[in-house]
Amino acid sequence: MKLIRTQLSLKTPFSFTCNCCLRCCRDKRIQLNPYETARLAANRGISTTEFIAQFTTSNGTYLVFTDKGACVFLDSGGCGVHPDRPLVCRLYPLGRHVSGAGVETFSELEREEGCEGTYGDAGLISHYLKAQETKPYMEAADRYLELFWKLTAFMQTNASDPGQRKYVRQAARRFKDGLGQEASSWMDMDTAVMKYCTENGKAFPSELSEKMALHIEAVETWINDTGKGE
Ligand code: SF4
Ligand code: SF4
Repeated sequence: MKLIRTQLSLKTPFSFTCNCCLRCCRDKRIQLNPYETARLAANRGISTTEFIAQFTTSNGTYLVFTDKGACVFLDSGGCGVHPDRPLVCRLYPLGRHVSGAGVETFSELEREEGCEGTYGDAGLISHYLKAQETKPYMEAADRYLELFWKLTAFMQTNASDPGQRKYVRQAARRFKDGLGQEASSWMDMDTAVMKYCTENGKAFPSELSEKMALHIEAVETWINDTGKGE
């Protein structure tokens, strides 16, 4: 979607009230990170492995949309996973951007055709984010982005010949586009953490925050060990 305002900050005046016309949950590509997948899986009472198989496409990268263009979780009453909806759904009609130097900005998206929401400037972007409970989602997005850059740097460093470099560039692009096939195991937090816990004699955590920390630890360990040739 087109951006109509960019370079906004937490202090930019902004307010928006959704009036639940249910038009915006159609014809979109909702990309997920492992934290969002784990939240949605818990909402459905299933493992991330089962969730990825049932409700995502591209090996866990995107939410399924029906043939009629609706999100798989859109029902007659609205979003069927509202307490655990992904960050992009919470932010709408804003977008969030974090530069390589860690500078956070926001943008405002073009209004959805027929959107019956009420726009205004009665509050600030920070107020809107708080009301949408975006904090754990933004923290998770930042941690997975950091991990992504580590993985990309690792792959580039370890691509020694031109053919390999080409593969790495392609893999990195696919990963950036949404954790494509080569990186599909990353999306399945339960499987990755279970494997890591089993191999390292750790108890499988029940809390999502602990599970995410172990997931990131597992990937970082893999990067470090592989870099040492283990
Ligand atoms: S997860 Fe919920 S809010 Fe997001 S697109 Fe699907 S139905 Fe809409
Ligand atoms: S189109 Fe606008 S008013 Fe309708 S559900 Fe989406 S955000 Fe809310």
